[in-house]
Amino acid sequence: MTNKIIEPIATEPVFVENYDLQSANTLAIPATAAYFCEVESRQQLVNALAFAEQKKIESLIVGEGSNLVFANDYQGLVIQNKLLGIHVLEQSVDEILIRVGAGENWHALVEYCVDHGWYGIENLALIPGLAGAAPIQNIGAYGAELKDVLVQLTYIDKASLETTQMSNANCEFAYRQSVFKQRLKNKGVIADLTLRLFPNAKPSLSYPALRDQLPNDASPKQVFDAVCKLRQAKLPAPSQIPNAGSFFKNPIVSSTQLGKLKEQFPGLVSFAFEGDHKIAAAWLIDHRGWKSKSIKGVGVHQDQALVLVNPRRAKGSDVLGFARQIQDDVQNSFGIWLEIEPIVIG
Ligand SMILES: Cc1cc2nc3c(=O)[nH]c(=O)nc-3n(C[C@H](O)[C@H](O)[C@H](O)COP(=O)(O)OP(=O)(O)OC[C@H]3O[C@@H](n4cnc5c(N)ncnc54)[C@H](O)[C@@H]3O)c2cc1C
Repeated sequence: MTNKIIEPIATEPVFVENYDLQSANTLAIPATAAYFCEVESRQQLVNALAFAEQKKIESLIVGEGSNLVFANDYQGLVIQNKLLGIHVLEQSVDEILIRVGAGENWHALVEYCVDHGWYGIENLALIPGLAGAAPIQNIGAYGAELKDVLVQLTYIDKASLETTQMSNANCEFAYRQSVFKQRLKNKGVIADLTLRLFPNAKPSLSYPALRDQLPNDASPKQVFDAVCKLRQAKLPAPSQIPNAGSFFKNPIVSSTQLGKLKEQFPGLVSFAFEGDHKIAAAWLIDHRGWKSKSIKGVGVHQDQALVLVNPRRAKGSDVLGFARQIQDDVQNSFGIWLEIEPIVIG
């Protein structure tokens, strides 16, 4: 019998020049990065950041590229996150604390927790991407958000290379929003997340489509299966037709603004949201007749007006140009500016 030799992870990442990013973003935008590397350990990550510093170029950490629009070629270093590991930190009859490496696939993590009977993230099944990107826009779906379960995260500052623990409150979470899209935009890297999950919690069934089909005491597995089914029926898979999910955020308006809009547009779809109202951006886009329209190969999905599709792999400027036409049209028709949800690079 021979002993298996486990190779230590090299401390220096392998840097590739002029890297093709088309398969690194789910919109399949053809763009290149001046440099690219993968990081499997914190040491590799720190060395990658130091490489960028030494070359005096920017760096961009990416997961699965499911929320990215490359407007141009990227002149810096793209770092592919591969920091893995799921560890139970504490477990009692009431709760479980787990630490998750930022490079873990989000959906696989949800499935892992569901398999263990832990409530908390089952409503967030099938959201593409890696765990490390989840705090950036406080991922949310079917009445749940990451902020409901995140205890803290490990954050590495790019400039100082200092590692800190950031609490949930310090992440300044809001609807598709966090400090990482504002004051700390592209300033650091999230290395891991600590989540609080529950063995006995009540399922979160505030979303009507879930409430209608599940019992009040549905198990995490039942919620997970229902969410997966709903998402598979509604959303186009990027592997079949390149897209970045919802391209625009649902605008939030006051009761007064909503009242005025409803006088003019009685069919307008809206939802109560934290004292205000979320307007269904899909309704605005659909009402203006954009569904199924396309320009220069970029289009609005035939069933989902919020999803822009890029079947001909058009460049980022064409995707953003098309989005701009929709934004201008909605602004002129309803007086509402639609904000782009994905992160635009360059
Ligand atoms: C079909 C489809 C459906 C979707 N549905 C939803 C949905 O229901 N709800 C929802 O909220 N989102 C949804 N999204 C958007 C997307 O899944 C999430 O935003 C996801 O968190 C992005 O993960 P990613 O690994 O692909 O990140 P990327 O697209 O690679 O990166 C996104 C941003 O995060 C930054 N980032 C990534 N990793 C790190 C890190 N470790 N540290 C610091 N910064 C980092 C990147 O620099 C970039 O700015 C959907 C996307 C698609 C394509």
